[in-house]
Amino acid sequence: MTDEVSSPELTADDVLRIDDDRFVAENVALVTGAASGIGRATALALAENGLTVVGTDMDEDGLAGTDQKAADLGVEGTVETVVGDLREDVPEIVGRAANHGNITYLANVAGMQHIDPIEEFPMDTYDAMQDVMVRAPVELAKHCLPHMRESGDDMRDSSNGFGCVGNMASVHGHYVTSDKVAYNVAKFGLRGLTQSIAAEGDGVRSFSISTGYVKTPLVTDQIPDTADQRGISVQEVVEDVMLGQSRTTEMMTPAEVANLFVFGFSKHASHLNGGDLKFDDGMTLTYE
Ligand code: NAD
Repeated sequence: MTDEVSSPELTADDVLRIDDDRFVAENVALVTGAASGIGRATALALAENGLTVVGTDMDEDGLAGTDQKAADLGVEGTVETVVGDLREDVPEIVGRAANHGNITYLANVAGMQHIDPIEEFPMDTYDAMQDVMVRAPVELAKHCLPHMRESGDDMRDSSNGFGCVGNMASVHGHYVTSDKVAYNVAKFGLRGLTQSIAAEGDGVRSFSISTGYVKTPLVTDQIPDTADQRGISVQEVVEDVMLGQSRTTEMMTPAEVANLFVFGFSKHASHLNGGDLKFDDGMTLTYE
């Protein structure tokens, strides 16, 4: 893969630190997709802010890497890891997270990509993507909400507890590119979940994050397939397909996305509920 699209290492200087009375070791942030890319960066950034992070993923080696990175950074909080498959293990993952403290924050980050036109899209792959990227976030919210409601948070804003769910959507939850039908549908669905939690939250907030392309393995892995599908070079995919409509020549970094979770979970975002943090370099808002 070309250097332009290799994923950068997160450093302590990259992390947004917020002084927030709820960013303490007693409170747990459950982060999915924590073995790689945005999920790993989000786990590290939340731990750097003093939270107990429970990072979950099906990739055991990747989770060990996140654990090691947390140790290397000397994060203020802690990172605990739970290996699990979001298609099968959600109740157990939430149960394990609850053993570490009050589940206060949930970051739904895990995701996958598959590129094929609708006529050729394998339905088992479609189903797996909906399971991981829509059904699991719903099921995680279902199991985390009672913990948020029961939390002994003495700063609670309502009689129904306190918590916040952040969902990693995408520009593909606003507009779409061809040959990504399962991804497009899933990201629109995740924004629907975000607003549904806001509707029923009563003290529990929810928000989504929509970025353009971020320098992670999910992106670098799809570049050759996109090049094949479109009959263009890898370089043309990066410059024309991924960044062509953006007002930037640089992709976002995982740390920059992680900082949006830190902000969204913080006291400074108390009026962010059901809304979307669209950080897309103008991609969906401008043309020509
Ligand atoms: P990534 O491939 O680096 O990480 C995704 C993680 O999800 C992996 O560690 C993988 O093991 C995990 N995962 C997949 N299926 C799972 C399952 N069944 N159970 C448990 N874990 C599972 O990807 P990333 O680029 O960091 O993307 C993270 C999220 O951000 C995704 O939801 C993606 O759609 C979204 N996103 C990414 C970009 C981007 O450009 N990278 C842009 C917008 C949105």
